[in-house]
Amino acid sequence: MTVSMTVSAAEFDRLWAQVEPVGRVASGGYRRFAWTREDLALREWFAAACAERGLDLTVDLAGNQWAWWGNPDDAGPGVAIGSHLDSVPDGGAFDGPLGVVSSLLVVDSLRRSGVRPTRPLGVVNFADEEGARFGVACGGSRLLTGALAVGRALALRDDQGTSLAEALRGAGREPEDLAADRLALGRVGCFVELHVEQGRGLVDLGRPVAVGTAIWGHGRWRFELPGEANHAGTTRLADRRDPTLAHATLVLRARELAQRHGIVATCAKVRVDPNGVNAIPSLVTGWLDARGDDDTAVRAMVAEFTQAVAEVGGTVTEESWTDRTPFDVGLATRLSEALDGAPCLPTGAGHDAGILANAGVPTAMLFVRNPTGVSHSPAEYAEPEDCLAGVRELARVVKGLLG
Ligand SMILES: [Zn+2]
Repeated sequence: MTVSMTVSAAEFDRLWAQVEPVGRVASGGYRRFAWTREDLALREWFAAACAERGLDLTVDLAGNQWAWWGNPDDAGPGVAIGSHLDSVPDGGAFDGPLGVVSSLLVVDSLRRSGVRPTRPLGVVNFADEEGARFGVACGGSRLLTGALAVGRALALRDDQGTSLAEALRGAGREPEDLAADRLALGRVGCFVELHVEQGRGLVDLGRPVAVGTAIWGHGRWRFELPGEANHAGTTRLADRRDPTLAHATLVLRARELAQRHGIVATCAKVRVDPNGVNAIPSLVTGWLDARGDDDTAVRAMVAEFTQAVAEVGGTVTEESWTDRTPFDVGLATRLSEALDGAPCLPTGAGHDAGILANAGVPTAMLFVRNPTGVSHSPAEYAEPEDCLAGVRELARVVKGLLG
């Protein structure tokens, strides 16, 4: 029996329009940080959308929302799909929400086409994927799998000095309840995350959807450069200890080292204390984000960078590191075949799918073409037809996995 699993543009637009205004800022981008009002509005929206579909919503001990069609404790483990709803500062509309909205539409299209799953199907909204507020990416999935220790997580602070424990309390949650959740993880037999592509791989290939093969090894490092606070007018140049100069040379150094080691490196976040226009700073704190398809190359680059920081009297702290994560080869091959030979692409972006793969869950990703390749920016985009193609292909994949 051939069943049509198409979703109309009107159906997509209706659901998309419910998410679109939440957390939009003047730049045209989004600020949807974990456990803020905007994030809570989106969590409420997710719960309501699941209720509308008669799905059973549970929140795991790590704060992620799961909506199951069928009972994974009776008939599980099941097939899970979904993504996240939080954003980076001034991020795009598609990173995260495209996967969540597409997953809900997959449930609709499977139902309409009369599919009766023999395994439960879950839709997940992972908490705090971007790490934009507390500095650790994929916080929800890392906590879920135990990759992030609860004590460390609760002590993380945002730029206003609010700890995660305080933020959770403010969001009506009990920080004491935060824990890894083996039971919730055990319900997931396999996970497929649909995501907007964050590069130009599909543009070059002329295809709307790709299958993800791996996530590059990636990490974040904080480097602190102490200086001596003093007057910007009365302190002779020769007498200054100005850490902004060290920071500037290190940014250039990171670029040069990345080039040499064949990886990518970025120093996009910096904090200057006290940040006064007429005061030589007492401290500059910089952050390095480094990623590559070869973990050894990334590690070698960071080792050299750490050496360079030490040479100017600074210190480096590793905030996070995730090894290169290959997705399940069998699953990727099966998906690519099911999608008429969809291309297979690795990615330099981290995802909850990578955290689940590292925890031993067979995991795959689908990427939807991004015409500019631009992401984590208001310019991030996917054409309406490509979004619909993503839903259709995800529905095909899920139907196959449900048996
Ligand atoms: Zn994302």
